[in-house]
Amino acid sequence: MLGIDDVLDRIGSVGFRCRGCGACCRRVAEDSNLVIVSPAEVRAIMAATGMAWDEVAEPYPEFIDAGNGGEYTLAWCIRRTKEACIFLRNGRCSVYAHRPWICRTYPFMLVDEDLRVSECPGLGMPISPREAYTLGADLCRRQAAEVAEEAGVQAVYRGATVPPRGRAVIDSEGVKELHG
Ligand code: SF4
Repeated sequence: MLGIDDVLDRIGSVGFRCRGCGACCRRVAEDSNLVIVSPAEVRAIMAATGMAWDEVAEPYPEFIDAGNGGEYTLAWCIRRTKEACIFLRNGRCSVYAHRPWICRTYPFMLVDEDLRVSECPGLGMPISPREAYTLGADLCRRQAAEVAEEAGVQAVYRGATVPPRGRAVIDSEGVKELHG
């Protein structure tokens, strides 16, 4: 994994300032606004909004054949309409203080030793050392959270059984059968 100093150097050389355009929350191309969330992130939004799990999250849209007539997927996403994330209201995030790691750190992502950068109108703008530090620290925390979530999913997956002809999401908390 990259250290915080390396991350700060790379963010500084790319440059970024959020323009508040909300493009990352809207569907501008197939799955462009797909935000993967961990169970902990879903629960944080549930606690903040009083919404139920299924109101906050939907299954990651790629299902895998379980070989018994059933199928499963390995993640949750923030629920979306055809146009945008359901939490985008009047051009603003209505769960801003509780937004997932992907939203906090967009358009950046750490993968092993690599800083990946997605399309964003705010790229190339000057970023202050303080903003870079906040973003870089969030990126490091996000990477650690993703590694922990992946390990949790793998641990559950090893002993998981998808119900015959059923549909399920396997996450770090267990096998969650989908109804309807
Ligand atoms: S949770 Fe907020 S920041 Fe994230 S995609 Fe939805 S509206 Fe945008």
